[in-house]
This record gives sequence, structure tokens and C-alpha cells, in this order.
Amino acid sequence: VDDNGDLKALIRTIPDFPKPGIQFRDITTLLLDPVGLARCVERMVAATEGPIDLVAGIEARGFLFAAALAVPLKAGVLLIRKDGKLPGATIAEDYALEYGQDRIAMHADACAPGARVLLIDDLIATGGTARAAVRLLRKAGASVAQAQFLVDLPDLGGAALLRDDGVVVHALVS
Ligand code: IMP
Repeated sequence: VDDNGDLKALIRTIPDFPKPGIQFRDITTLLLDPVGLARCVERMVAATEGPIDLVAGIEARGFLFAAALAVPLKAGVLLIRKDGKLPGATIAEDYALEYGQDRIAMHADACAPGARVLLIDDLIATGGTARAAVRLLRKAGASVAQAQFLVDLPDLGGAALLRDDGVVVHALVS
């Protein structure tokens, strides 16, 4: 594993999941590969600019990378979850889906005002999830200047929208 193409080769595409017409990019095959996984983490750490206080991971695959990056970055992990899963007092943010809407939440006291937060998820598509996470973190007083993803689907435009929100966006594979 030594270039974008090799990381890409570890990601498989499952047609018609979770519904007909969707080409699902499945990263579980990359997670199974020790060299590929280590390379992902190393590259994400190397792409991180400046000191970070907290790595915010989006449920569920974002959690894996958030913890792996937080250790070398000497940062903590902040969980962004589907609403209703966190035990303490939460703040939440709604975002639009193709049909209907969804809601993500974080513990209201998870970050100190001005905390430097790096947002992580496995994949950005329309950007709806990541942009809601940025709004949520900023509502909590965090400074969210960077977001990283294993995969960007550029045709769906999410990374561009996230950049318009004032976030430096980095992805390992397009
Ligand atoms: P977005 O909100 O449209 O940017 O979708 C991104 C969210 O949906 C992330 O939390 C991803 O984990 C998940 N997601 C969307 N499409 C895929 C895919 O093809 N493979 C894996 N996860 C996906």
C-alpha cells in the first residue's frame, strides 16, 4: 500500500446497497488490512495542521478513525452520535436526508469553549452529516477548522460545501 490507487483497491463497491441504484463504498475491507489501516491513520495524522484538543468522530465508522488519530495527536475523542444514544445532557442538530431528516447529538459539556476540534468520518457524500456536525460543534463553542475523511465522493459536492463553511477538508481517496 503506497499510493492512492492502492488504498482505493482496498475499498470495495457494493451495488444496490442500502437501496437500488446506490453504489455503496465499503471500507470494511480496508479495515481488515493491517498495512492499509496503518497507512490511513499515518496519513491522516500527517495531514493534521497544528495542535488539536479533541477529535470528533461521527457514528459509527468515524469512531474508529477518531480514536486511532487521537492517540498520536495527543487529543481526546468526542462522540457525535445519532440522537437518543448518549446518556448525559445533549445538544442536537437536524439535517436533511433525501427523504425526511435525521438528527445527531453530542454531550452538551463535551468541549470547552474554543477547543480545537478535528472532525473525522469515513466518507463524505452530500456533506449533510458533516456539515450538521460542524454546526453542532460550533454551537457547543468549539473551533472547527479541519475535517478529514477516508473517502470523498466529489460528484456529490459535500466537501465543497464544507469548505464554504470555513473548514479545511482533507480526504485520502476520491
Ligand atoms: P452525507 O451526509 O451525504 O455526506 O453522507 C455521509 C454519511 O453517510 C457518512 O456518515 C457515511 O458513513 C455515510 N455514507 C454515505 N454513503 C456511504 C458509502 O457509500 N459508504 C459508506 N458510508 C457512506
